[in-house]
Amino acid sequence: MESQYPRIPVLDLAPEIESLRAELKEAIDNVLDGCHFIMGPNVKAFEAEAAAYLRVRHAIALNSGTDALVIAADALNLREGDEVITTPFTFFATGEALSHFGAKPVFVDIDPDTFNMDVGQIESRITGRTKAILPVHLFGQSVDMDPLLQVAKRHGLFVIEDVAQAFGADYSGKKLGALGDVGAFSFFPSKNLGAFGDGGMLVTDDDALAERARMLRVHGARKKYHNELVGYNSRLDELQAAILRVKLPHVDEANEGRLRAAETYDRLLGGIPGLTIPKRAADRTHVYHQYTVRISNSRDRVQKLLEDAGIGTMVYYPVPMHRLPVYEHLQAGGLPETERAAAEVLSLPIWPTIRQDQQERVASALAAALQEVRPLAGAV
Ligand SMILES: *Cc1c(COP(=O)(O)O)cnc(C)c1O
Repeated sequence: MESQYPRIPVLDLAPEIESLRAELKEAIDNVLDGCHFIMGPNVKAFEAEAAAYLRVRHAIALNSGTDALVIAADALNLREGDEVITTPFTFFATGEALSHFGAKPVFVDIDPDTFNMDVGQIESRITGRTKAILPVHLFGQSVDMDPLLQVAKRHGLFVIEDVAQAFGADYSGKKLGALGDVGAFSFFPSKNLGAFGDGGMLVTDDDALAERARMLRVHGARKKYHNELVGYNSRLDELQAAILRVKLPHVDEANEGRLRAAETYDRLLGGIPGLTIPKRAADRTHVYHQYTVRISNSRDRVQKLLEDAGIGTMVYYPVPMHRLPVYEHLQAGGLPETERAAAEVLSLPIWPTIRQDQQERVASALAAALQEVRPLAGAV
């Protein structure tokens, strides 16, 4: 049945754009006036501002989050036969970046409470070929970094953080991205700090690594036309940098809005049978890139019922990496928690200024959908 209310999308970018429109227009106009579109003053200023915010020595603005992972892998010299321990429950780019160099992602199962890699399983997967650990701070919440960093240190492994979904979140008083050897961010429009196009950034405290990444960004050249490495064209453009400079000072407020929205969902959805609300670990902030619940029975049908009620949701991710055709051959045994999560997860509408009445509609439609699928339990 069609709902009489306007549809609630899974993400609405319009309120944020509206609230910043005057500032954004001015920033865009300034770029047009300056006629400097590549590696201009806004890219430089954004890098300095982002580095200060994240408390890192170097921030290198790039074309995308995928490129940040690719350039991190390249700069760390990951090559054919190297192994990198990571999570199977992530966006494809996490593994793809490694595969470009012939490095092999080695998947450990996830912690069912946080959907993040189960750090306790890392050490048993280390071999003589392991070069790095690649934690993904999924849905806006940190991986359990202290034990991960200890394992990395003990075995002399690099740590590459995929922070695409967690700009601004912290762990033990540090910003995510600043804990490992290198952090990779995405400014895809839907991310917590989003541009109006593609964008990404690599951060590091290591001067030599930063220099290599800066060279790789522009065709492997320190000095134009004096190329020393085979690199990329992976610059963040000046318009996107100007837009990100407008948005960066508002990112904490936006993340707080997401947290408030998550607390509202916790209140509205806690205790509904058949539904598990996401858990927040105690020693870290969660910036709720996604508010992801588990539906133990008939998730796909619940999603369809919500769609019919005018409520957008997403499944991140329906097929874990080790079940994708590209990576199927890598994983001998199953990864039961990952597979259960892939079958149960549903990400609900969330953005910094989602209204209480919208969340109430989501909650009541979800409760009704769960009610409707309940008689099917056990009947299959
Ligand atoms: C979005 C995302 C990326 C890739 O970022 P792009 O900017 O889209 O290339 C990588 N990893 C994760 C976990 C992501 O969510």
